[in-house]
Amino acid sequence: MMNSYVEINKVTKYFSGSRDVDGSKPVLDQLSLQVKEGELVTLLGPSGCGKSTLLRCIAGLTDYEEGDVHLDGQDLAQLEPKRRQVGMVFQSYALFPNMTVYDNIAFGLVMQRLPRKEITQRTMKMLELIDMTDKSTSYPHQLSGGQQQRVALARSLAIQPKLMLMDEPLSALDAKIRKHLRAEIRRIQRELGMTTIFVTHDQEEALTLSDRICVMHEGRIEQVGTPEEVYARPLTTFVAKFIGNYN
Ligand code: ADP
Ligand code: MG
Repeated sequence: MMNSYVEINKVTKYFSGSRDVDGSKPVLDQLSLQVKEGELVTLLGPSGCGKSTLLRCIAGLTDYEEGDVHLDGQDLAQLEPKRRQVGMVFQSYALFPNMTVYDNIAFGLVMQRLPRKEITQRTMKMLELIDMTDKSTSYPHQLSGGQQQRVALARSLAIQPKLMLMDEPLSALDAKIRKHLRAEIRRIQRELGMTTIFVTHDQEEALTLSDRICVMHEGRIEQVGTPEEVYARPLTTFVAKFIGNYN
C-alpha cells in the first residue's frame, strides 16, 4: 500500500443502463492495482473486460461509484482532470489536421502559457525523441500512421505528465510498424523513466513491453506479475487460456 506511485484502491464502477442481463454487474469490480515510479504496467485482457474504463477513471474522464485513485500521494478525485498531470494516448491519433507536426506537439505547452523559449526547447527535444526533427513542418496527412502516432505520443509527453496512459495505441497500425513502434515506446519510456499504464489485448505486445502484466477479466484483475511469471505460471484457468499456455 505504501510507496507506490499510483495506487488504485478498490475501484468499482457501474454503467447505469448497462445491458448486462441482471443489470447489476459492475464494469470494474473492487479493482486494486499499484504501480511504481518509472514502471510500465500492462493491462492485458479481452475486449470488454474494462481496460479502457479503468484508464478513463484514472484520467478523470468518467466517474466511479467506489474506491479511490492516488497519484504521487494525491487523491485524484480532488483534482480537476486538467490538473492531474496525466497524459493519454489513444488508438486514434486525433492530431490537429491543420497544424504542422511542430505546432501539434507545442500546442499543449502554448495552452499552459509557458515562455516561448521553453516551448521551443521542449518541442525540439520531443522531435528528437521520436526521431522526426526533419518532419517538423509536415502536416498530419503527409505522414504515415506510425509517424502520426509518434507525434501523438510526443504531444502527450511534451507536457511532462507524471503518469502516461496508453489505450491500445498501436492497434490501428499494421504489424510491421506496430513492432517497430513497440520498441520505440519502450525506449522512450525507459529514457524518460515515465510511469506508464499500457492497455492491450495483444499478448505478444504485453510480453515484450511490460515490467509487469495485469491480466484482466470481467472487471477484475486475475493475475499480476512479470511477463515471465504470468506466462510460466498462470494462476487461473482464464489466464492460462488467454495466454495460450496449457502446460
Ligand atoms: P475494454 O477496453 O477492455 O475493451 P471497456 O472498458 O471499453 O472494455 O468496456 C467494459 C464494459 O463496459 C463493456 O461491457 C462495455 O460494453 C461497457 N461499456 C463501456 N462504455 C460504456 C458506456 N459508455 N455505457 C455503458 N456501458 C459501457
Ligand atoms: Mg478498450
